[in-house]
Amino acid sequence: MARQKIINVHGHLRQGCDLAALVREWEKQGVVKFCVLALGKQWQQKGYLGNDEVLKASRQFPDIIAALGHVELGGPFRDRAEKVEQLKEQGFCGLKFISPEAPYSDERYFPFYEKAEKLKLPILFHVGIVAPHPEDRIYGVNSDFMRPYLLDRVVRCFPNLKVILGHPGEPHFQEGLTLSCTYPNVYLCPCGGGGSDFHLSKIKQALSSFPGADWSSEEENLARRYLRQFVFGTDNPPVSLWYVQSVRLLDYFQAGQETRELFFWKNAATIFGWQF
Ligand SMILES: [Zn+2]
Repeated sequence: MARQKIINVHGHLRQGCDLAALVREWEKQGVVKFCVLALGKQWQQKGYLGNDEVLKASRQFPDIIAALGHVELGGPFRDRAEKVEQLKEQGFCGLKFISPEAPYSDERYFPFYEKAEKLKLPILFHVGIVAPHPEDRIYGVNSDFMRPYLLDRVVRCFPNLKVILGHPGEPHFQEGLTLSCTYPNVYLCPCGGGGSDFHLSKIKQALSSFPGADWSSEEENLARRYLRQFVFGTDNPPVSLWYVQSVRLLDYFQAGQETRELFFWKNAATIFGWQF
């Protein structure tokens, strides 16, 4: 069987990793683009790469690595909206938003959204619970500011902004699903939880239909509709792990070939304007 073509919209790199070996591994898995999301000062302390290093990696392997830039939305190093233009000029092809000091819907972030929309930079928003960090108080981190439904106002005001909800938005799964069914530019990436079976079970539960539903019906098997707006992502685990978990998810809900292609690469290609 031919390899599945894959675009990973949500990956990270750590200090000291063997990048060439990773790229070989991704290619073996069928990956045609791998989005590396830069992280801010808080997570760089834990070994994750920030903007400069992610950009360097993407210049080293420009065919496969797409750099998504980090914007500080709170704390002592808070960025101004001009940062968005700067990241675009540097060669980033999207943005990662996480840990704002106010709700994503707050007007203070509108200049960022306006610039991202104008410059055609998709934004991957971390939604839902975020892992705790000792400096959360300094940075004003609050998972409640990252509820998926806060993005309703954002996509309403910036209808051409391409939005990926990173993670399912625990514990507010339904909010993200509703947004992705209402707004064509909102997509959802199910990664998170280390790609564990426990995490996958929570997604299955969130997508499951009512008891007695006809799973062969698009109207009754709700997941069939929702999965059409899903995109493949890994967060920290390797592509091989999330490939297996994704196939299990798609098989479980009896997704058709078209949905699988949307999920593994076509939706992502639309979001970033890539042709394959
Ligand atoms: Zn992540």
